Amino acid sequence: MAKLKSLAKHQKKSVLNKAIDFFIKSIYHAYFVGGYVRDTTLGLKPVDIDIVVEGNAVKAAKALNLKLKGKLCIYEEFGTASIITEAERIDLASARVEKYSSPAKLPHVYPSTIIEDLNRRDFTINAMVMSISKEDFGEIFDPFNGLKDIKKGLIRVLHKNSFNDDPTRIFRALRYKNRFGFKIEKKTKILMKEAIDKRMIQQLSGQRILNEIKLIFSEKKYQETIKDLSDLLIYKIKKKDLELLPLLGPNRIYLYLSKLDTDGFPLKTEEREIMQDLNKIGSTISRLEKASTNSTICNILSPISDQIIEIIPLIRQELKGKINTYSKLKKIKPFVKGNDLKKLGVRQNRKFKNLLRKMLDLQLDKNIKSKKEAIQYLRNMKIHE
Ligand code: ATP
Ligand code: MG
Repeated sequence: MAKLKSLAKHQKKSVLNKAIDFFIKSIYHAYFVGGYVRDTTLGLKPVDIDIVVEGNAVKAAKALNLKLKGKLCIYEEFGTASIITEAERIDLASARVEKYSSPAKLPHVYPSTIIEDLNRRDFTINAMVMSISKEDFGEIFDPFNGLKDIKKGLIRVLHKNSFNDDPTRIFRALRYKNRFGFKIEKKTKILMKEAIDKRMIQQLSGQRILNEIKLIFSEKKYQETIKDLSDLLIYKIKKKDLELLPLLGPNRIYLYLSKLDTDGFPLKTEEREIMQDLNKIGSTISRLEKASTNSTICNILSPISDQIIEIIPLIRQELKGKINTYSKLKKIKPFVKGNDLKKLGVRQNRKFKNLLRKMLDLQLDKNIKSKKEAIQYLRNMKIHE
């Protein structure tokens, strides 16, 4: 395992080095951008490598991938491409070259397309580029003073309309704040509140909101961000649900979603079922605490999906015994099946189903100990009346 890890680390370094080598020698002027510049400045390991290429990024990606031999995904209509290697993901985007772009050797003039590109970004800490070209390698272009904000630990928008232009930035700001332990800059906070008050988040599609929520839950500090959203009255969550989240493992996002209006969210049927089970987990637990017979335990738990049942003892340790009992009980084969009732002349209606369940309950509670006893019981019941 340790060997594998060090191998991956080695590969990662070499992917990055190969990319740098490629751009230093190539005709393209290219820059690291966004999270890559931010994270390396912070001394952190960047999640992925974002590169802006002056010129055709798709062509550059094709040429680079001859060296990296990764999986190349091309998005021709956006002029972007991604290279996915085992250890690393590189995203490349195009910035048009201008006719008056400076000749090599002269100090590089940042083309307005790079400036335009940075102008469209979310926060100052994400709006810097670092050159990966021979003549000015490592030079940082930081028109919004992102480096200063990194030092001060501030999340700051580039202009006053930022949150209205793209309300997903509200989620992003809170995510970065908690990931890096930064603060939202004073004016940015006011602009954010104004956008929230104007119900800008409600303008987003369910898909985009769901993406942001997934990103929040993929972070270590997700609880802080969920609390911030609640404090900002975006998605209010009760204290007890907030405390429950860490106990739920990968299902925690579904508990959260179950508390929101998710009508427009693209969720699968299985996901909605998990959400339903989680929504009533509190009442399931209290019913289970009161349950004193095998049949009641089974009737409470049988409609609930297995992965949610597994969570119950994590929330209430005392219920471990009852959950173990249930896993044994659910393997028990019923003495009485549908065919037995048919032979006794019972018609298939609602009563039929209830009768099967009643017989199983009697068996689980050991009030009936054999098939023979069960059939005798049914005969004595005068079931046809
Ligand atoms: P992470 O470490 O989470 O990947 P990142 O900064 O790389 O952080 P990405 O979502 O990968 O974030 O986006 C890459 C860059 O694209 C960001 O740094 C930012 O400059 C820009 N960006 C992403 N989303 C937006 C947005 N909604 N509005 C403006 N710029 C954005
Ligand atoms: Mg990124």
